[in-house]
Amino acid sequence: MKTYLNTIDGRQVDSVQSFESINPATGEALGRVPVSSRGQVSEAIAAARAAQPGWAARPDGERKALLLQIAALIKANAAYLAEWVTREQGKPLGGVGPDQVPGSRFELWGCEVWTQVPASLDLPPELVFEDETRRDEVHRKPHGVVAAIAPWNWPLLIAIWQIVPSLRVGNTVVLKPSEYTSIGTLELVRIISEVLPKGVLNTISGPGEVGSWLVSDPGIDKITFTGSGRTGVRIAEAAARNMVPTTMELGGNDAAIVLPDADPQAMAMGLFWGAFLNMGQTCACAKRLYVHESVFEQTVQALKQIAKAMPMGNGMDEGIVMGPIQNKMQFDKVVALVDSARRAGATIVCGGQAKGGPGYFYPLTLVTGLKDGDRLVDEEQFGPVLPIIKYHDIEAAIASANRLDAGLGASVWSTNIEAAKDVASRLEAGTVWINQHGMIHPMVPFGGIKGSGYGVEFGVEGLKAMTRPQVISVKK
Ligand code: NAD
Repeated sequence: MKTYLNTIDGRQVDSVQSFESINPATGEALGRVPVSSRGQVSEAIAAARAAQPGWAARPDGERKALLLQIAALIKANAAYLAEWVTREQGKPLGGVGPDQVPGSRFELWGCEVWTQVPASLDLPPELVFEDETRRDEVHRKPHGVVAAIAPWNWPLLIAIWQIVPSLRVGNTVVLKPSEYTSIGTLELVRIISEVLPKGVLNTISGPGEVGSWLVSDPGIDKITFTGSGRTGVRIAEAAARNMVPTTMELGGNDAAIVLPDADPQAMAMGLFWGAFLNMGQTCACAKRLYVHESVFEQTVQALKQIAKAMPMGNGMDEGIVMGPIQNKMQFDKVVALVDSARRAGATIVCGGQAKGGPGYFYPLTLVTGLKDGDRLVDEEQFGPVLPIIKYHDIEAAIASANRLDAGLGASVWSTNIEAAKDVASRLEAGTVWINQHGMIHPMVPFGGIKGSGYGVEFGVEGLKAMTRPQVISVKK
């Protein structure tokens, strides 16, 4: 079975140990992934360190042009890489465009766009003060070597979110993909590294321990992490010891609130994808739905109709809309949470019973009759299950939305935008969408508050996060 290799200092590198990457739709082994040794982690950091001054010294225009070449390489290899995403992650191939299923081809299209956009952005020096005695400018400098740790839900897209803004402003990168979805990412980096000087972009692979060696190394100048809150705390502790700045994109438990004047039929498709994109395995999916009693039944029925019509299966087959859950740990969590809901007396509106192997298939599941405090409401399910909670009083719904230690996204659904904005401004979340959910954009900053992390990605603000400010103060 083929072993897919890491890119370190421009070379393709194997390791003594390796493990199999598994297709979650079939259980078959797809290939082998190296387990980087501690020495290889140090080598990757040293390569990034050696390459960084030369990379930062390049004219801005050259770095932009190279990023555009990377975008072109992603486009040229999109079909190959999308197949890896589907085989490893499980999401269907799908298509690109408003009426297409957002699957692996959409993920690759996102990689291309999220590469082009930072290539078009600039961080010119800012004049922050001037009088007859002095002139003060803020300049933006790269941190140096960035450690990037990625999760398994959007393996290539999130890696691109971490890599591209880092490179754009003159950092070099050592990236560790999730052990559940390494091959696609290793292949992406192998392909795009062709146009980069050696050492500018490196990978290491293996379990969390390999990531812990990376983030605790004193040779790292900035950490960008997307993953669970528990791992985020460990990484923040490691970063604190070296006084290293971090961007933390952690889990969410996004509330969506449907106001009494919402139109259940008109909003149902948007709500559905807001909750079930990538089988609910998306950080900013709607994970708790609070619906006013006057439109509750119609909303539940509209969602049920859509959920029941979505074909589920091996994402390599055209026409499939929903794939498997990505891994056993996540599958077991979904099963346990639905079982706990059943024990709490909930009504399972549809789904609720695992389909049986092979593959980690679980049907789209809607659950009513739960309340705040029940596990499926309070814990992030990160899977194809949505609790729908009836409310009477909007004040209570806002309090419910805000009561958890999570604040990535939220949404408000209404035909009255001003009323929706009033509610939105009172929700504790990094982004509140109105009549849509999870609709990120490469120009719009995105990040969480509370237990969902800190710092933002995307747009000019995201680019700034990959730099440190330096003030140049001139006496007149
Ligand atoms: P995870 O925390 O288990 O793993 C994420 C990555 O961290 C993996 O690459 C893993 O190997 C690595 N890791 C584990 N322990 C480490 C350590 N001690 N030091 C360094 N690295 C370590 O998360 P996951 O299960 O892959 O992802 C699912 C979670 O991520 C969900 O909770 C989800 O909400 C969250 N998520 C958040 C966002 C966001 O933007 N906020 C996006 C996607 C996923």
